[in-house]
Amino acid sequence: MQEIKDMVCPFCGCLCDDVTLEIDGDRIVSTDNCCTIGNAKFLGKHRLKNPIKKVNGKWVDITYDEAVDTAVDILLDADRPLLFGWSGTHGEAQCVGVHMNEILGGVIDSTTSVCHGPSILAIQEVGHPGCTLGQVKNRADLIIYWGCNPIEAHPRHMSRYTTYADGYFLDNAFRNRKVIVVDVRETETANVADEFIRIKPGGDYAVLSSLRAIIRGKGDMIPDSVAGVSRTQLMQVAEMCRTCSFGALFFGVGLTMAKGKYKNIRNAIELVDDLNRHTKFTLTPMRGHWNVYGANEVFSWMTGYPFAVDFCRGVAFYNPGETSAVDVLARKECDACMVIASDPGAHFPRACVEQMRDIPLIVIDPFQSLTTPLADLQIPAAVTGIDAEGTAYRMDGIPIKVKKAMDSDYPSDTEILTRIYDRMLEVKGL
Ligand code: SF4
Repeated sequence: MQEIKDMVCPFCGCLCDDVTLEIDGDRIVSTDNCCTIGNAKFLGKHRLKNPIKKVNGKWVDITYDEAVDTAVDILLDADRPLLFGWSGTHGEAQCVGVHMNEILGGVIDSTTSVCHGPSILAIQEVGHPGCTLGQVKNRADLIIYWGCNPIEAHPRHMSRYTTYADGYFLDNAFRNRKVIVVDVRETETANVADEFIRIKPGGDYAVLSSLRAIIRGKGDMIPDSVAGVSRTQLMQVAEMCRTCSFGALFFGVGLTMAKGKYKNIRNAIELVDDLNRHTKFTLTPMRGHWNVYGANEVFSWMTGYPFAVDFCRGVAFYNPGETSAVDVLARKECDACMVIASDPGAHFPRACVEQMRDIPLIVIDPFQSLTTPLADLQIPAAVTGIDAEGTAYRMDGIPIKVKKAMDSDYPSDTEILTRIYDRMLEVKGL
């Protein structure tokens, strides 16, 4: 039995880097410092053993060489392919994906377009008053979780960085650090908060605007109730924010995907801006998918745009709402699709799932997922953080080098994509 320390969990945007793994032969048998979700990923069973291809409606085993050739045929036959996913893989693979898309003239998009795309649109308009999670842990005496539920979605966020963490510059952090939760329902996180603001669905923008008005000294204009929140509570929360030493606002898809979308985030950033006239306040999106932040970084360096990048004109073009994966699929515009490190079959709207079913679909993923039944070809890859290494970005934008715990016969996502890319260049004579 072998013990390996300081491994990075490959599941959510917290990228916890203090995980200990116990390995027996070629199997991880237990984990330490890992939440239930991360543990399930490390111990993940039912990995595909080899590539599979659908022939006459039945799956047959094929070799990696055959899988690469099939993938190249599908992608080069398409007029407008969609390359979607990327959030569960490392930056080096994302980089090859962008090169592939440039050759193919297709659309490359990550899960950003169905989670924090609105956050990016708002940040492009008014900037990002962010900081590292280390700053939050050591300095923040007030935490706001808005439209997110870390106890269930990022289970170690509160123990590593906020509620239950010690702070270098804080006395008795556990007792003195205050937590406010804003949500439309009483979540597990709301149950441990010092203050819970329950708002009516769709009321986020109005509540943010009211808090901004109070911070700017216009509290007398606020009616008795705003989106189900009493004026008394709004005044009280605004005072908590204004008088803290260091506040940190975290927000999730409960805010980005609620009515108002990117305008909500813009308003939240501007609230933080207003608060910075009185104290220190920061804002951080709770990125859910492991390396979705990295996908935004890599796409931006290489194309100038963070997600939903369309190369059909030969140069990069970006117009979320038109060039994002859901729109391209729903309009039945793409005629082939490659999904990597993501499971849109589980989350996308019905019209998109039907389109994925009706066009040639390649899946690159270690495990069978709800996208597998829609696919024509699935190529299993090594899992970054288990048997592959690479670079991933934590939710606060910190890049982390992810080690592998063991060797395996599985090629990494980068190796698979590079083989497909090299073969495409060969076929096209480039
Ligand atoms: S909080 Fe996220 S990164 Fe940390 S162990 Fe759990 S799933 Fe993994």
